Amino acid sequence: MRHYLDANASEPIRPAAREAALAALARAGNPASVHADGRAARRLLEDARETLAARFGAKPGNVVFTSGATEANALALHALGARRATILSAVEHDSLRAATPDALSLRVDGEGVADLAALAATLAACGPALVCLMLANNETGVLQPVAEAAALCRRHGALLHVDAVQAAGRCPIDLAALGAHSLALSSHKLGGPLGAGALLLARDAPAGPFPLIAGGGQERGWRGGTPALPSIVGFAAAARAEPAGHLAPLRDAIEATARAAGAIVCGAGAARLPNTACLAMPGVRADAQVIALDLDGIAVSAGAACSSGKVAPSHVLAAMGLGALAGQAIRVSLPWNASPADAASFATAYPRMAARLRAALAPRAA
Ligand code: PMP
Repeated sequence: MRHYLDANASEPIRPAAREAALAALARAGNPASVHADGRAARRLLEDARETLAARFGAKPGNVVFTSGATEANALALHALGARRATILSAVEHDSLRAATPDALSLRVDGEGVADLAALAATLAACGPALVCLMLANNETGVLQPVAEAAALCRRHGALLHVDAVQAAGRCPIDLAALGAHSLALSSHKLGGPLGAGALLLARDAPAGPFPLIAGGGQERGWRGGTPALPSIVGFAAAARAEPAGHLAPLRDAIEATARAAGAIVCGAGAARLPNTACLAMPGVRADAQVIALDLDGIAVSAGAACSSGKVAPSHVLAAMGLGALAGQAIRVSLPWNASPADAASFATAYPRMAARLRAALAPRAA
């Protein structure tokens, strides 16, 4: 039996999302067409927009559908970052890091939490910048003080963009209450289909439109191209689901298993998502751990796996000052439908993996 514990890479689809997406797939109609079929498609699109707006504290007219969060993050940088310095927390996702090679870096402490005193000093020095601070980190689950950062940004005339990809569906989020200027979401990270995401803009975000992709004026001019309706409809259905309430005890059991086998839990002292455990095994490469667990039926990932499948030491754990452990940590991320059987299988497989890999590392007797 397989145990899928890699939800932060992609959540299994929720049944309501699957049903809604399949129903939308079965019908014809471009939301831009004026005939009845087009108007019906348009209704589905606008219903999805209203659902997301209500769920995440935005106005429906300020929800821009995209292909995913990589595009939503890129659109935020483009729309909010023009003629501004960019400040990125040191633990942001590569979709923001790769797009901003000249960004200033905001340091995090040993638990992975952004240093707001450093942010205040940087804002005082560089003026009205664009700041990017994620709600929850994809590798450690560590939550960031986004509301406090937003207040600080506003005092300095700066804008704040929040990558909420990993927090969405796992804890309540309200853009207006956070006080940020924009928020990025991804459908497949909250149990919807692949191929949809959104950028939510606050009421006082720059007015726009500032499209990254020009086209036929879709999304009120913010994003050209025919929207991926089945994915968007499934995205909204997934977003309606309540966060799973049973994950924290399973996560705690997994961390207890790992600690007993000699692992260090990264970011354990910070407020975190209930589903994520980042487990470093001193001296043992992360990719070897991932492969050994996979052979035992357990799907997890190394801290940061790039698309080539090669594992580089995690920039997140390096920023937390974890040194060599940055290449020795795996991420266990429980999906919405995780069960005690998953934690039980982990409790068998993890110590076995640790013993086997440590034995392989030990110097051979002559
Ligand atoms: N931000 C974070 C924090 C993520 O974890 C991811 C996905 N790994 C993304 C952005 C990009 O999302 P998408 O897959 O929808 O492009």
